[in-house]
Amino acid sequence: MCGIIGISHHPEASKLAYLGLYALQHRGEEAAGIATYDGKDMHIIKDRGLVFDVFNEAALESLKGSVAIAHTRYSTTGSSNKKNCQPFLVTHRSRGVAVAHNGNLTNTEELYRKLEDEGSIFQTSMDSEVIIHLLAKTPNTDYKHWFVNVLAQLKGSYSAVFMVQDTLVGARDPYGNRPLVLGKLGDGYILASESCALDLTKAEYVREIEPGEIVIIKGSKIESVYHPDYGKVRKAQCIFENIYFARPDSNIFDDNVYLVRKRLGQQLAKESPAAGADLVMPIPDSGVYAALGYAQETGLPYEIGLVRNHYIGRTFIQPTQFLRDFRVRVKLNPIAEVIKGKSVILVEDSIVRGTTSRSRVREVRKAGAKAIHLRITCPPIIHPCFYGIDFPSEAELVAYGKTVQEVADFIEVDSLSFLSLEGMLAVMKEQGAFCDACFTGRYPIAVPNNKSKYLLEGVSR
Ligand code: AMP
Repeated sequence: MCGIIGISHHPEASKLAYLGLYALQHRGEEAAGIATYDGKDMHIIKDRGLVFDVFNEAALESLKGSVAIAHTRYSTTGSSNKKNCQPFLVTHRSRGVAVAHNGNLTNTEELYRKLEDEGSIFQTSMDSEVIIHLLAKTPNTDYKHWFVNVLAQLKGSYSAVFMVQDTLVGARDPYGNRPLVLGKLGDGYILASESCALDLTKAEYVREIEPGEIVIIKGSKIESVYHPDYGKVRKAQCIFENIYFARPDSNIFDDNVYLVRKRLGQQLAKESPAAGADLVMPIPDSGVYAALGYAQETGLPYEIGLVRNHYIGRTFIQPTQFLRDFRVRVKLNPIAEVIKGKSVILVEDSIVRGTTSRSRVREVRKAGAKAIHLRITCPPIIHPCFYGIDFPSEAELVAYGKTVQEVADFIEVDSLSFLSLEGMLAVMKEQGAFCDACFTGRYPIAVPNNKSKYLLEGVSR
């Protein structure tokens, strides 16, 4: 997961990076960081916590310079220590080099061993540090060849921003697995994981960085070079960004996330209506837009029967089970007056472990629902993700090895339907351009041989 930002040629680069991170907070609540370059020195502040917790005005003032890169981090259990926060910054041959990365490399272990054999000493277990070592080892007089040569050695999924003194570089892997957009900011540029960060910084949307494209931005000058696989492999954009992860007010993968979710809901209603239902309600916030589509398609009333407490973050992001349970309970409150005696269609984006959905269903049942029909806007998730979405191992995925009826029994609903794979893919604007491996096991980018999900303890995402 993770959110990344790059700012070039703006007198208040750190402040804009901060605003950009704010817009990308949903991509990771574990840690945040900003690195800048002031024409002479590099500066960096990074720590665990929300963007709001890590920075204050004095911190932003101290991050001087007109170039910045920034990162908001999602992490899994065991890897949330401070040294794994990004951006990752080093000085090499008197030159500052920094990187912030979203995605997950699949050849980290291989590169790590090779680099260690050649004498590299690693401080962290992050794949981003591997990239830094490759940058240091690769001849680098000419930035174009330098970045092409380094990125050609990486396998897996990445959208990344780099800062080498006053040069900002942005890159997306040849499959385009993670999003990265380009905006114009006065005379300079902004790179961001999602376009919602452009809105907050008042940047003008220019375009997406293409899969396999590497943009090199110096001052107000921008040029592109390309990965050797550019245009040679099929696009494999992460469909889960559309289903759940990205913000609905973002345009990514050449589409608007809100509209995609509504279309998913409409398609779900066509495939899986529920006889005798009185109303459609979402599990907020993730199910809201699809439920709207579902309700519009069926003509049934749309009600908000669960109300969200806005003063807490996403539930699954906190690593420990104790916190996860607590957050599930504190987050949503049912309105009995809306639900009592009704047969309700509950719309949710996806089921992963099934535990959150089951707690929600129990709450709705306690509030007096006569019947609960759960409708999910994607197929069952039954395979792990090697490209950066934190899906647990197969054993923890509730749908793995179970029939739909068995999952329905686990979640305690009267009926359960998942959107079909064909139905989900059909509503995407770009056809044949998505990765659906978590549903199908068809991994478009080679996965590690041993198939162990985390190659190194605490590997970054
Ligand atoms: P659960 O019922 O426990 O499977 O939780 C389902 C909710 O958590 C859905 O809204 C999911 O989309 C959301 N979720 C999204 N990504 C993840 C993830 N990586 N791990 C766990 N839950 C996730």
